[in-house]
Formats: sequence, C-alpha cells, structure tokens
Amino acid sequence: MTPSGLTAPLQVPPVAPQAAHPDTPLPTSGAHGRGRPCVITRRAVFSASHLYRLPELSEAENQRRFGLCSLPPGHGHNYELIVAMAGPLDADGMVLNLSDVKHAIRREVIAPLDFRFLNEVWPEFDLSRPQGRLPTTEALVLAIRDRLAPHLPLVSLRLHEQPSLWADVLAGPTPDPMEAFLSIRTHFAAAHRLAREELSQAENEAIYGKCARPHGHGHNYLVDVTVRGSIDPRTGMVCDLAVLQKLVDDLVVEPFDHTFLNKDVPHFATTVPTAENIALHIADLLREPIAASGAHLHRVRLQESPNNAAEVFAEAPRLDILPDALLAAAAAG
Ligand SMILES: [Zn+2]
Ligand SMILES: [Zn+2]
Repeated sequence: MTPSGLTAPLQVPPVAPQAAHPDTPLPTSGAHGRGRPCVITRRAVFSASHLYRLPELSEAENQRRFGLCSLPPGHGHNYELIVAMAGPLDADGMVLNLSDVKHAIRREVIAPLDFRFLNEVWPEFDLSRPQGRLPTTEALVLAIRDRLAPHLPLVSLRLHEQPSLWADVLAGPTPDPMEAFLSIRTHFAAAHRLAREELSQAENEAIYGKCARPHGHGHNYLVDVTVRGSIDPRTGMVCDLAVLQKLVDDLVVEPFDHTFLNKDVPHFATTVPTAENIALHIADLLREPIAASGAHLHRVRLQESPNNAAEVFAEAPRLDILPDALLAAAAAG
C-alpha cells in the first residue's frame, strides 16, 4: 500500500464541554438525548475587501509575490464561513441553542467584517505592526477562530473565499496554533475504461458493469487538493498559492485533461483508473513537489460525478473529523 493509502478509521470528534444552558433544569420526564454527543454546523456569509501589499517590499516585489492581489486599492470576495461545534445534548435536545450560535457569530465575526476592508479591521492585519499579517483566507479563518473560541465549543472552521478556494482550521489544542489547511479545486475532463487486462470481457463486465465497455466513457472530474502548513507570520500564507496552482496544473490537469487515461497516462496502462486509483496517483504525483514548496500535501479528493467521489490522505488524516454536514453545506454554497 502506498503512503497515500494510509487512511485511518473515522474518528469521533472530540466532545467539548457543555457550554450552553448551564441553568437548564433537569427534565422531569424523558432524557431528550441529554448527554449524547453530537456535532452541529452553522453557516454565515459576509462580503469584504482586502489588499496583499507589504510595506517593507518594493512595488515590483509586491507585484511579483502577490500578483493582481497587490493592486491598490484592493478587491473583494463574498466569503462563506462554516462553523462546526460539538458537545453533549442538553435537556432541550440541542448541543447549543442555534439562536445563541447565530448571535455569537454575528457579533464576533459578521458585524466587524461585513462590507469592511479587512486590512483595517483587526490588529492581526495591521501591517504597521511587526506581528501584523496579510488578511489571507487562512489568516482570516484563524483570526475568526480565536474570536469565536471563547463563546462556542468549536471543532473546526472552514472559510470559502470562493468556491474553488477555502481554508480550514481545527479548534485547539493543536501542536501548532498557526496550523491551517488550504484547499484548491480544479477540474479536468477525461475518458477511462475500467477493466483488468488479465480478465476476459465477460469477467470485467461482471466486476465493472458498463464501465468495462471496450471503448470507454468520460467524466468531468473535480479535484480538491488540500495542503497543510503553518501560517507565515507576515504573509499570512501556508504556501505560495500561485506555486500550488501551477503544480496542480502542470502535474495533473495538463497531463490528464482531454485524455483517455488508460492509454495516455502511463500509470494507468497497468493500474485500473478507478476514482480511487486516480486520487491515489494524483497524491503520489503531488506529495514531493508540494513538500519541496514548503507545505505538506494532506488530502486529495476526486469527484467523478455528482454521485461518487474518492478521498485519500497523504499523511495522517486530520480533517476527517470534519462532519459531513459541513461538507454538504459548503457544496450547497
Ligand atoms: Zn482576494
Ligand atoms: Zn467512469
């Protein structure tokens, strides 16, 4: 088994101490699930602008490192935040009263950020201070975590800057308080045929069904690549996003797009190009180049159709504690 196949069983998220309704009286009849652990998610959206420009760098160096993001006066995004929380159910059958959750997120996050220029909202992003950093997606979700942590039993937070770019942070305690996960989504179109060379057509059709038909069929694949790293204290980045996008383009999209995978990608001459094997191969292709760029490949998720996807971890899984509800909410957004 390759290292990227080292997936561990799904873990139950750590259950945070009960934070809501400490004064709720004991139920007089029926437990309403009281004490049983559960994870809940809440989604919130805001719009904000930002500018990637470090005062200690020259104009040319800002442009080289941050591209169009360095152009004054800045540009904006419609952000989507998803907050996952865990805890035992209270006597009302809830982890938390969602009204309290909504108000905490509104007060701590939405009110200060919505329709604001992020570089000026919070001290973390004050670049005139040596400890100030750029308001990147990962730096922003970290700052949001630190503001919500005193109020909500957080498990993890996800912040989408756009549908193809998002960052995750886990609630503490983490070995590295600056650790974040950055994900990009891209796509390619390709054909494949599922069949093992050593088997007859009838045997292959018994295993793979229509997918074993001799002349193949195609999919529009979605690829999510997640890297893990420590947020740079000045740039606010876990890695150079342009470098990451170029690696994925050069090593995956360009060689895979508009191909017949079995014939055009040498690896699949001898390995059946199932969604699982494509995801593993992508992880194998990306692991070392991403490590050389300073981050760690964490996960590759390959979606073959609206109905099926494969997910592999290139290191010990951490994000597998994210609840499905959170992923579903992100997809809907
Ligand atoms: Zn931006
Ligand atoms: Zn297929």
